[in-house]
Amino acid sequence: MHELGIVFYIIRDVKQAAEEHRVGHVAAVVMNIGEVSTVVPEYLTDCWRWAADREELLRGSELKINTVPALTYCEDCQQEYETVRYGRTCPHCGSPHTFLLQGNEVEIKEIEV
Ligand SMILES: [Zn+2]
Repeated sequence: MHELGIVFYIIRDVKQAAEEHRVGHVAAVVMNIGEVSTVVPEYLTDCWRWAADREELLRGSELKINTVPALTYCEDCQQEYETVRYGRTCPHCGSPHTFLLQGNEVEIKEIEV
């Protein structure tokens, strides 16, 4: 379980942003979490609850998860398809020459104050 480590990274970034913008308290942090990232959203919010309440800046704040759907691109037929449904082989032409376009993100989308 690496969610707690991720939470500490988020807190560090949020603190930095709050300092730059002279914000005294954060109400919520919105995260982009990719569908095929290895992060379990429920663990992440549990860890957040535990860690955020230990910081004055973040006490009582909410961690909101925005799930980013996974999309794969096929180099041979130049089409996109749903990664979770079809995996690495293009459902349009059967090509294995595909790569993930989006769906692996673990990033801060927005900080609500
Ligand atoms: Zn294809």
